[in-house]
Amino acid sequence: MGDHQDFARALWSGTSAEDAVDCPPMEGERRADVAIVGAGYTGLSTALHLREAGADVVVLEAREPGWGASGRNVGQVIAGLKYEPEELERMFGPETGAHLWRVGGGGPDMLYALIRRFGIRCDLVNEGWIQPAVGDRGLRMVAAGAEQWAERGVACELLSRDRVAEMTGVAGYAGGWIDRRGGGVQPLALTRGMARACLDLGVAIHGDSAVTALAREGTRWRVSTARSAVIADTVVLATNAYDTGLWPGLGRSIVPVRPFLVASAPLSANLRGAILPGGQVASDTKRLLSFFRLDTKGHLILGGRGALNHAHAPHIHAGCGRTRGRAFRRSRRAHGNTPGRAGSP
Ligand SMILES: Cc1cc2nc3c(=O)[nH]c(=O)nc-3n(C[C@H](O)[C@H](O)[C@H](O)COP(=O)(O)OP(=O)(O)OC[C@H]3O[C@@H](n4cnc5c(N)ncnc54)[C@H](O)[C@@H]3O)c2cc1C
Repeated sequence: MGDHQDFARALWSGTSAEDAVDCPPMEGERRADVAIVGAGYTGLSTALHLREAGADVVVLEAREPGWGASGRNVGQVIAGLKYEPEELERMFGPETGAHLWRVGGGGPDMLYALIRRFGIRCDLVNEGWIQPAVGDRGLRMVAAGAEQWAERGVACELLSRDRVAEMTGVAGYAGGWIDRRGGGVQPLALTRGMARACLDLGVAIHGDSAVTALAREGTRWRVSTARSAVIADTVVLATNAYDTGLWPGLGRSIVPVRPFLVASAPLSANLRGAILPGGQVASDTKRLLSFFRLDTKGHLILGGRGALNHAHAPHIHAGCGRTRGRAFRRSRRAHGNTPGRAGSP
């Protein structure tokens, strides 16, 4: 992952309607009910909801809010968890399983309510998520998803091969389904808006404040940075796949996978009418999936699961080329036009 300069040059930094919040580095020592390490969606959502419940909360972030995956993803809002409802009920029993699929299925509505409540300007679009199917395995997956969610009252439908091609602009998928709960956001603007909401509620957020040590101090925790410390009753590690060394064994439980994203220059009106013209976002059924969408400025953003380490970079670019080629082949035929240069979100 790059530095502050790379981040500032990236697409999402250039198109965010929400400004970066002012969060000076932590100095000195202070008490708090809860110290949260990391200011992505996990840390900021935890901070926001704990603060609303009355807790005194400090967030410590190594760089700036949204610097991690929350400010660099493709911004697809997708309902549900990795497993479909029936599988969750089989794995955890009818009660806990049903609770899990309800929570996962309600994720988009919860997010949309949060965006409205705090007036977050993150280009929210709620036209649905399309999951195009790859091969027979993909068709079985989308059929199971569509059937199980439809039985539970969700607005979704199976799509034929032709309908997927028409709705996405990509030929070659075997079929698919659309889940109307899904949508798209500008991911960095969402993170910044959440940080702004936290500050307005009285959460303290400190950027450039990497936590370097976590130690017991009586019944509390000492959460240290190079120049400061928070003494907290509870600590939340919201550091995603970054190996901080703060908790024994945590690093070993994580296998980082490096997905890639590229963005085109804004497409012509002609091409915008051919690629996801209904405003949906899309990600396919492959285990290492491909995802693509247009943002509200007309940039085509696409990517996929990348490599396990930087040595695999050539495979990343080859994968990118294949995805891009497939996405554009049909549009080019239909519209005689190609998208512009690639950039990096
Ligand atoms: C390319 C890509 C595309 C994706 N697309 C989607 C999508 O379309 N839809 C979707 O729902 N999900 C998507 N995801 C996943 C999603 O982005 C993540 O699940 C989510 O952002 C995780 O949020 P987080 O707050 O847990 O972690 P992060 O946003 O990564 O935040 C962790 C933070 O911890 C900070 N930190 C690390 N170490 C320390 C330390 N020692 N002290 C202080 N701070 C520290 C980091 O600087 C970082 O800001 C995508 C991910 C990637 C990479």
